[in-house]
Amino acid sequence: MSAAKAFPPARDWDILIIGGGITGAGILLEAARRGLKALLVEQKDFGCGTSSRSSKLVHGGLRYLASGGLRLTREAVHEREALLRAAPGLVEPQGFALAEHDPMLQPGKGMTTMLRMVDLLAGRREPRREHPEAQRRPVPDGAPAGGIRYTDAKTDDARLVLRVLDEARGHGAVACNYVTVQSLVRDGGKVHGAMLRDERSRAETAVRARVVVNATGAWSSLSAGESVPGRAPRLRQLRASHLVLPACRLPLAQAVSLLHPGDGRPVFVFPWEGVTLVGAADADQEEGTDMPAHITRREFDYLMAALRAQFPQLGLADADVVATFAGVRPVADPGQGGAPASEKREHFVWSEPGLVSVAGGKLTTFRAIALDVLRHVAQQIPGWQLRSERGPVFARVAVPARQDMPPAVLRRLAGRHGLQAKPLLGAAHKGELECIPGTQTLWAELRWAARAEQVYQLDDLLLRRTRLGLQLSRGGLDQMARIRAICQGELGWDDAHWESQERRYLVEWRKQYGIPAAG
Ligand SMILES: Cc1cc2nc3c(=O)[nH]c(=O)nc-3n(C[C@H](O)[C@H](O)[C@H](O)COP(=O)(O)OP(=O)(O)OC[C@H]3O[C@@H](n4cnc5c(N)ncnc54)[C@H](O)[C@@H]3O)c2cc1C
Repeated sequence: MSAAKAFPPARDWDILIIGGGITGAGILLEAARRGLKALLVEQKDFGCGTSSRSSKLVHGGLRYLASGGLRLTREAVHEREALLRAAPGLVEPQGFALAEHDPMLQPGKGMTTMLRMVDLLAGRREPRREHPEAQRRPVPDGAPAGGIRYTDAKTDDARLVLRVLDEARGHGAVACNYVTVQSLVRDGGKVHGAMLRDERSRAETAVRARVVVNATGAWSSLSAGESVPGRAPRLRQLRASHLVLPACRLPLAQAVSLLHPGDGRPVFVFPWEGVTLVGAADADQEEGTDMPAHITRREFDYLMAALRAQFPQLGLADADVVATFAGVRPVADPGQGGAPASEKREHFVWSEPGLVSVAGGKLTTFRAIALDVLRHVAQQIPGWQLRSERGPVFARVAVPARQDMPPAVLRRLAGRHGLQAKPLLGAAHKGELECIPGTQTLWAELRWAARAEQVYQLDDLLLRRTRLGLQLSRGGLDQMARIRAICQGELGWDDAHWESQERRYLVEWRKQYGIPAAG
């Protein structure tokens, strides 16, 4: 990623994209790749909405197949495979074990047939049945007794957004964080651009664009401060919450999909970036999207109950949880108030003159969503036709082997940083090619992020450029002295600014990522 872009260059754009989550980033990349002059603006930090708070799975949507969503599964499996090929080190395979008593495995559900179909779509075949004895070992394998095994994939969602944005920049696109769309510019019933405000300088400017795309996710019904355009679907906002435990307290060799002892809903537990993730507890986000999403005490207790029932021998206590996080997804609301977990996860796109809006969908299928949006965009740009072929998601990146670093670490760096992996390594000071204890993140990644990855607030650095705020207890406070020694100079912050940022970060971390108080 290139250095900070404070405000977009004053020129006319073919396409202005509002929202720097995975949906906006994907549209930016596919538009720029096809020759459009493309600008993306994000009101806070890239990925700070749902796209850094997902369950971090790049998945084939097996459970959607169970409810008849063949098209969605086909798309998801295709994109999962494309991402596994294009971004090793960022998108990695993840083995799963399904409990024998999972309703999906019950006679008549055709689970084996579904798994064969997924294999067929992915172009590979894998053994399914676990040996019952292997399944009974709760730790480290942690699989429920009896069951079936399949492979999906996982990622670092925030880094996936950054990698897509970086790739888009390689095709001439511009992406600015901390730039808000305050309102749309309309003339004669058509949208022609937007009024932007730079959140750093408070400067305002108008930009013109042939088409504006509203990719503001859970915020999309607010359509940049306006009321919902006539044809927009009614949206229901669903929150899902997660726990993070250190791998030493909940060591797993593979992911486990287990059933909650209370209501039988699926809960998954899987190893991720040196920690173990547990999710998800679903609920309606009744606070709306003005408040950042956070786990409630009830959801926390619900997930802990699933862990304690599955792993009684570990004696897990609340204090074992290092962090929590919650994300909000918009789903179309038919007004029937169904159970949150049962709502469909498809995306939807709607248009009016000069404006295309998109909401919903999955991280996994961001490229398919982008192409769908661009199909609508093409109808509004005379003379521009959408080439819908899909090549590799990212250009190939090769990081030369080094004697002082294991290949797995180089693979991880190449996946997460793409073409920036080489300069990142070159910028490292002595001792910075070691992992920060308890994580797989190198100290050098902090230096590089502070220098070159558009960091404006400390939470950009600790929650999205790196994920230390999720992986270390107390949001990383115990490592803050060394983080500061590496990053303060790179960021150009004086002592007072660093200290106020640190205070602000810790307050926000407790609210959004901490352990909710009991009772
Ligand atoms: C809890 C949860 C778990 C999930 N797990 C998975 C999973 O494991 N795998 C998977 O494939 N999918 C998963 N999903 C779905 C996936 O995470 C979402 O579909 C995806 O992240 C949505 O991305 P987005 O870009 O549409 O929205 P967001 O990431 O929320 O981005 C929208 C952005 O728009 C910005 N914005 C809003 N208003 C303005 C404005 N006026 N000006 C400028 N910017 C603005 C916001 O700040 C925000 O950053 C999950 C979803 C949830 C909620």
